[in-house]
Amino acid sequence: CPRTQKPFTVYSQSLKEKLIAQSNLESDLRHALAANEQLSMVYQPIVNTIDGTLIGCEALVRWQHPVRGFVSPVEFIAIAEQSELINLLSRWIVAKVAEDCHRMVENNIRIKVSINLSRKQFSDVHLVKRLSKEKAKLFPANQKINLEITESALFQNTQYAINLMHELKLAGFNLSLDDFGTGYSSLSSIQQFPLDNVKIDRAFICNCVDNPRDGLFLQTMSDLAHQLDLTITAEGVESSEQWQLVSDKGIDYIQGYLISMPLSIDDFITFDPVA
Ligand code: C2E
Ligand code: CA
Ligand code: CA
Ligand code: CA
Repeated sequence: CPRTQKPFTVYSQSLKEKLIAQSNLESDLRHALAANEQLSMVYQPIVNTIDGTLIGCEALVRWQHPVRGFVSPVEFIAIAEQSELINLLSRWIVAKVAEDCHRMVENNIRIKVSINLSRKQFSDVHLVKRLSKEKAKLFPANQKINLEITESALFQNTQYAINLMHELKLAGFNLSLDDFGTGYSSLSSIQQFPLDNVKIDRAFICNCVDNPRDGLFLQTMSDLAHQLDLTITAEGVESSEQWQLVSDKGIDYIQGYLISMPLSIDDFITFDPVA
């Protein structure tokens, strides 16, 4: 799938570039967190494949840096993970999502909200205790919360992951395997984890209409997920042809630009999936 390529230009270093070179993402992120500014959360709708009804959303963090502009979460989460900053960041994220869940409930939107757990967060021994506390204290009563975990986090230490996942399930969280298909695990190895859902990485969606191998993979994954009593979500659905194909494969839920971009909470509460 094509990535957006920035045109290559040669020019002398501008003031802006000098400022960028001087800025230090780690300390800038620390400042943004302490001042509670520049960071925000957006929510991408997840809908039922068959009729497009809203069933949930994925919370995604955004950072608007005063000099650099938009910084990708992939970049700054990796930086945060190199220090204790990841703990502060994840607390900030959970608190913000909880606040926005109250906004949703006030607007009669009662859906499952997915929160991403980075690899390092997943290996934090205090994770279950902290999340349980936050769930009880900050979120609306009966809020359904889904945690998205990537394959690489699970396979760092399989037995540890299984135990932790059981604890998270007992604490009332639902669990998704994120970016499925991009790791090294065999399809059948997912059966050992107490999952509720798998999310197929968009790499398998973007060419699926033209590439029969991707179509076959989607069918195999869909069948396997259902045999294991899991639901399955296709990420990155951008065209109605992709929606149709994913629907033909029996995939339960879809998420992607075709349905909606990730939205601010204000836009999310007025989002109408059938419009
Ligand atoms: P992810 O968890 O796989 O999130 C899905 C990414 O795909 C998001 O990028 C989303 O904006 C993008 N996306 C959704 N639909 C489409 C589509 O139709 N086409 C294309 N091309 N892209 C689509 P985003 O927000 O830039 O996040 C990138 C990654 O950063 C996430 O991948 C996740 O791993 C991480 N991330 C984002 N927010 C958080 C967070 O709050 N906590 C943690 N731990 N990680 C986060
Ligand atoms: Ca995710
Ligand atoms: Ca994903
Ligand atoms: Ca991804």
